[in-house]
Amino acid sequence: MEEFRDRDKDYYRWNSQNPDGYILHQVNRKTYTLHHAGCPAVASISVSRATTAPKFCGAEGELMSWARGKGAKVIRGCEQCN
Ligand SMILES: [Zn+2]
Repeated sequence: MEEFRDRDKDYYRWNSQNPDGYILHQVNRKTYTLHHAGCPAVASISVSRATTAPKFCGAEGELMSWARGKGAKVIRGCEQCN
């Protein structure tokens, strides 16, 4: 799993190299949304400053268990890419 915070370039590179990966977007301390890599909601090149809110990237299972370990109460599937 990789965390991207204020690193848009690295984040977009990860997206293009991991088309089968997943992205967790942290909405607040207890709420996350889960996206497929390349989802327009979180990974379109037009989304400027995409990593101002940290993005956690990896396989679905590791992201889900990591988020629960961090105290996530709500993990929503994205409506645009699920
Ligand atoms: Zn999405």
